[in-house]
Amino acid sequence: MTSTIAVPATARAAVITTVKEDLVIKEVDVVQPSDLAAGECLVKVDYAGCCHSDIHVKNDDWGRTQTPIVGGHEGVGHVIAIGANTIGSPVKIGDRVGMKWFANACLKCEMCRLGYESCCTLAREQTHGLTVEGTFAEYTRCWVDYLTPIPDGLDSAAVTPLLCAGLTIYKALKVSNAKPGHWVALSGAGGGLGHLGEEIPCKYALPLLDIHISIGIQFAVAMGIRVIAIDTGAEKRDLCYKLGAEKWVDFAESKDLVKDVQDATGGIGPHAAIIAVGHALPFNQALMYLRSTGTLVAIGMPGPANGILNVPIALLISKCLSIVGSATGNRQDMAEALDFMARGKVDCHHEIRDFNEVNNALKDVSEGKVKGRIVLKIAS
Ligand SMILES: [Zn+2]
Ligand SMILES: [Zn+2]
Repeated sequence: MTSTIAVPATARAAVITTVKEDLVIKEVDVVQPSDLAAGECLVKVDYAGCCHSDIHVKNDDWGRTQTPIVGGHEGVGHVIAIGANTIGSPVKIGDRVGMKWFANACLKCEMCRLGYESCCTLAREQTHGLTVEGTFAEYTRCWVDYLTPIPDGLDSAAVTPLLCAGLTIYKALKVSNAKPGHWVALSGAGGGLGHLGEEIPCKYALPLLDIHISIGIQFAVAMGIRVIAIDTGAEKRDLCYKLGAEKWVDFAESKDLVKDVQDATGGIGPHAAIIAVGHALPFNQALMYLRSTGTLVAIGMPGPANGILNVPIALLISKCLSIVGSATGNRQDMAEALDFMARGKVDCHHEIRDFNEVNNALKDVSEGKVKGRIVLKIAS
């Protein structure tokens, strides 16, 4: 199959050339339609979101960054070419599509059959902005089976944060097993550090509300789940209440965070806790305040130095607790999350910036200066 529009030989992309240093915006070769393998396609990127994981990749915090690599893993664009001999493609040339952290999954292995596409070996090998080229580029190679068709009527920039942050928090709510009427504690960057907060590096106490929490409150409310938000500061408190949280605990003011969370949820704690923090302490606290039979869902990803749970096994047994890790979501989760947005239940707060601003944008994300999500306008 050939492209309906001209594909340039080179185009702009933001490339991680050296870890811990700024991305370099430069001209890179564009894969040509004739070079696409069956199942591959070329997407012209319209918007790309700036995710906290992009900073972890840039800094090689997870020890998996392969340089040089075009960064970015959250984006919306249009399919402009599909590899020859591609059979049964779910997308066609001209379709508007979303790109996620995982660029592909085999859809055949045990994990894929079980719906755990994020645990597929192929998905781990083909991850946008980490192991294959990402969305900080005017054109990027994708795989037709794993692109996300974007429903008509949704704004491209507004939907972009749903492809990573929104999918992740929606899936976390699903695996929390919280039912309508149940309480879920949502703890974002900085949340839950309690009166020990001053002993923790301040980068874990970001001044603005984590996007997982702002989107998560909206999903939870739409699902009939009651939210207790844990973070600090009047601005975040007001936003959480505005989005539909019923209770709020300010970890910086709390003298006993575990007791305050339990008291706010009727004395025996929430049914589930979703922790999106890059430090282990809030995870440990959650196991203390959860009600018996409760579920801790881990989506924050601390580095190896401070990412160890320290839980009395007797506590797990006596409270019959569950601990669940969750990484993004599968294709069905994505379709469901998009449906919530299409029905007006979820809005991703975002700010559009020019592609040239990518390094300043990532700096602002790392310093917690961003309200919602920065979405880069890629297409000129
Ligand atoms: Zn992400
Ligand atoms: Zn698989």
